[in-house]
Amino acid sequence: MTDPIPMRRPIEFIDLGRQQRRIRDRLDAAVARVLDHGAYIMGPEVGELERRLSAFCGAKHTLSCANGTDALVLALMAKGLKPGEAVIVPSFTFCATAEAVAMLGGVPVFADVLEDTYNLDAESLKAAILTAREQGLALAGVITVDIFGQPCDYDAIEPVVRENGLWLVCDAAQAFGAVYRGRPVGTLGDLTTTSFFPAKPLGCYGDGGAVFTDDDETMAVLKSLRVHGQGSDKYDNVRIGMNGRLDTVQAAILIEKLAIFAEELEARAQVADRYDALLPPDLARPALLPGCTSAWAQYTLRSGSRDALMKRLKENGVPSAIYYAKPLHRQKAYQHYPVAGGALPVTDRLMETVFSLPMHPYLTDEDQRHVAGAFGAGVVAAQAAAE
Ligand SMILES: *Cc1c(COP(=O)(O)O)cnc(C)c1O
Repeated sequence: MTDPIPMRRPIEFIDLGRQQRRIRDRLDAAVARVLDHGAYIMGPEVGELERRLSAFCGAKHTLSCANGTDALVLALMAKGLKPGEAVIVPSFTFCATAEAVAMLGGVPVFADVLEDTYNLDAESLKAAILTAREQGLALAGVITVDIFGQPCDYDAIEPVVRENGLWLVCDAAQAFGAVYRGRPVGTLGDLTTTSFFPAKPLGCYGDGGAVFTDDDETMAVLKSLRVHGQGSDKYDNVRIGMNGRLDTVQAAILIEKLAIFAEELEARAQVADRYDALLPPDLARPALLPGCTSAWAQYTLRSGSRDALMKRLKENGVPSAIYYAKPLHRQKAYQHYPVAGGALPVTDRLMETVFSLPMHPYLTDEDQRHVAGAFGAGVVAAQAAAE
């Protein structure tokens, strides 16, 4: 085994501290303003944030909510998902995508993804539609997931969705800030959802989320659903809803973070470009579709020697993580749901080979040289072990 290469300072997988130090004064002042006015629930910052999020992504309406999972549930409720109806989702995602469907009594039907972008494969979507019909399920819609920050191939997916009379919800928990061929995330699909979980590209200091739509009627329903299905006032209930509000304190924090978000997105893209240039040539880099940007929630590689490489990185003080080691169709809670065409070979392959590197806007050239250096040695060591 080669000796670990010398370390300068620890590299964090996601370094929220550097961002906080940069805007700490503004965050303190924003939180202090909320403590002063005392409107902890639906205070003025909530509406202000919603206006700014709409302006940022170009969606007509933004509804902030308690987290990204509630955002999905709210979107599905707004679409009127009924128990027993099927919704096609990728298996290669965080569990919340399918959980929201199952929670409402719907049937998630798992589809496969593309090997290079990790996003929903339009061909597998077609297969999932056939599978659902063969099983006698009433199909309602599709949830796409813009995984790791990159929008799906909507030019391929949308026609399939529309031809089959389905609705489209985009789970952009990881992709707020990305753009698909001139169309910002938030304006794709019938509804888009996102998460402000601290580790997402735009995160708060707790749980938070949002739903985006261009439709006035849908927005009115979402608003009602967020507060117990309220009608003309708080004590008038016209439908079953939930308590899904975003805290005023989190909205105040998000306003300050959104102010530097565009700059951070650029920094993330630069970090990704530097990884592309620095990493050993035999590693499969993340593929971006032409004309698309990514919010770079993760920088995810594929390698047949993943475990050896991750071990070598760890020895050199470089954290890495596997998203996702176990896809949803293999999870105990979801394994009984239908799978497109009976098997998801790409998802199964990815599960064995993917791993993600440290990714945040404050990674320096020096940090990344250190990561790449650890890798170089790792690639050699892994090859030597294989020989
Ligand atoms: C994080 C995430 C969610 C859920 O967001 P929470 O705010 O944690 O509830 C949903 N879908 C995807 C793809 C995610 O990455």
